[in-house]
Amino acid sequence: MNNTSIPGDTAFTASALCQYCGLCCTGVLHSYIRVEPEEIEHISKAGIPLRKAKNDKVYFVPPCVCLVDNTCSIHETKPKVCRDYHCTLQKNVMNGSETDDDARRVIKRFKQAAEKLREQVTPPKNRDVSELNLHSFLLSFFDTMVKARKTRDYTPEETTFIYDSFEYAKLVDRYFLKTPLLVKFSDLILSIEDRG
Ligand code: SF4
Ligand code: SF4
Repeated sequence: MNNTSIPGDTAFTASALCQYCGLCCTGVLHSYIRVEPEEIEHISKAGIPLRKAKNDKVYFVPPCVCLVDNTCSIHETKPKVCRDYHCTLQKNVMNGSETDDDARRVIKRFKQAAEKLREQVTPPKNRDVSELNLHSFLLSFFDTMVKARKTRDYTPEETTFIYDSFEYAKLVDRYFLKTPLLVKFSDLILSIEDRG
């Protein structure tokens, strides 16, 4: 996503960081992106498939089709929530508590962690794993594992995935946004280690 109301060099650095990163738009941090009523028509015309929640709020699920070459192809008219969002890492760069270079290293590390998880996922038929909303997938995987642990031990593959998800959740929580995934996967790991 991107910045709007930060002056001068800082704004440029923050904007360049987003262009390098693009993670907000890829479904690794957010399960959905909200669209305001007045934005529905032009966002829909841009080709983004919209959904309606039970409370009538409109949203879409990233990865976003408007992310092209890691850049938002509808930058001038993107949803307000995309314009206004700043992750922890970007805020740290803007307030000088993190250097741009360090932030880029974090982003690279996080992309590798996300890729490692995607490589372990079998996508539904006729779908590519790059279309997967990893954040939602991990939330539902957690629920599946909680049910499974009542009747059986985890397979070695599930155990590996749980540990990798925990590493991923730690990075999300520390550098991007507070996530329930951290407590959830920490809980699963405790249950594995308790069973010894
Ligand atoms: S995760 Fe942060 S740095 Fe990356 S695109 Fe979103 S706001 Fe920008
Ligand atoms: S509209 Fe643009 S900024 Fe928003 S998710 Fe899509 S590509 Fe990202």
